[in-house]
Amino acid sequence: MKLNSILKPLAAQITALFLLTNAHAETQPPTLEQSPTPNVLFESPEHQNIGASITLQTSTGSRVKGDKLVVMPLITDRGKSLQLTFADMIWLSGDYIGEPDISVGRSRKESDFQRDVDSYKRYKGYIPDIIGHYQELLNYVKDELKSGKPLEISEVFDRRFNGATGGLGYGSISPPDDGPDQGMRGLYLQLATYDYDHFGEDATQAYLVGHGLALKLASKATNENELLYAYAVEGYADHFMTDTFAAGHIRTPRKELQIACENLSPGFWAGIFANEDEERAMLAKLMHDHDGEKGLTMVNGRGEKWVAEGDKHFFTSDNSENRQRVIAAVQLSADQIYTAYKTRNPDLDANKATMLQILPDFKATRRANLKSRPPIFDATYNDARTYVTVQVDKDHQDKARCTTVRVPEGF
Ligand SMILES: [Zn+2]
Repeated sequence: MKLNSILKPLAAQITALFLLTNAHAETQPPTLEQSPTPNVLFESPEHQNIGASITLQTSTGSRVKGDKLVVMPLITDRGKSLQLTFADMIWLSGDYIGEPDISVGRSRKESDFQRDVDSYKRYKGYIPDIIGHYQELLNYVKDELKSGKPLEISEVFDRRFNGATGGLGYGSISPPDDGPDQGMRGLYLQLATYDYDHFGEDATQAYLVGHGLALKLASKATNENELLYAYAVEGYADHFMTDTFAAGHIRTPRKELQIACENLSPGFWAGIFANEDEERAMLAKLMHDHDGEKGLTMVNGRGEKWVAEGDKHFFTSDNSENRQRVIAAVQLSADQIYTAYKTRNPDLDANKATMLQILPDFKATRRANLKSRPPIFDATYNDARTYVTVQVDKDHQDKARCTTVRVPEGF
């Protein structure tokens, strides 16, 4: 199928609030057969499930499941107590709570990562509503599946998440079938529009910076609460790490599309998006969804290869090895935090090197799939690590200014 014919119906369906990281809605409603469990459909429960699948050692050495260990206790300004667990940190961070103007993958600054973590204090008032809507969403999906009807996730949930995070309606984006909607962009939509840290090398680097900060905090921790805080920082970092195990995230040149491709076709998305940033985000989403659906061969730092399905296929049998690998990586990473606490040594270089052995390597993964799964967009770099060009397939040449164009075979 030609990309244009895929894109135009897609554009018409976009609620656009789930631009990239929060794929709460399917562009085509999945059928019951395609959706054996609600968890298959969503990213957030996948993140949460990973956190719940590992154990963390407390200061006494006992092991507690990640969805039981409270690492971020907060009191909202209205006096509501929030007991966020390690698993909560993985699913909330970056997608619902964070600082949209920060890209740790680009700056590689610990102080930026710290600002991301501190955003929990700044935006804590949003969290009760986010969790409330999230629970409703899960219940809705469960009921829909029980009813035997094809599952249709209403975009009303995206509207609610936008509303829960200080926005109004669809933010600045006007759904074409729904008339103008000049609402405000909430934190949820802002984060989705600038989510570079959830993709490729930026995700790996954002994780490494956050993991390094957590290791340092753990090595200096002198009591249970300080260790728990180190785990909270680790949970934030693990959001980005777990994203690298999703086929739709590992090689999509998210940042490059935003930065390198400047003359987007003005007509193509006309009337749908309020600004070019959102158009570019949609280009990345196109590739994100495509790779996620088709799956990729992943390659880690040791050169081991395995198959990964995308965001919505975490619990499928095809993805079982990938699932085991991401859980093992989060477990090992958390164990490093405890060891740093016990030994009072962050052992940064050795610990990061160990993690890089088992995490998907975006360069090796990109190379491994170039022929078998040609990318829609493909960024290449020179030795100085400055971007050189973004290659774009034929149907997207008018959407992005690029000096080299390569038409992927078989697309
Ligand atoms: Zn993410």
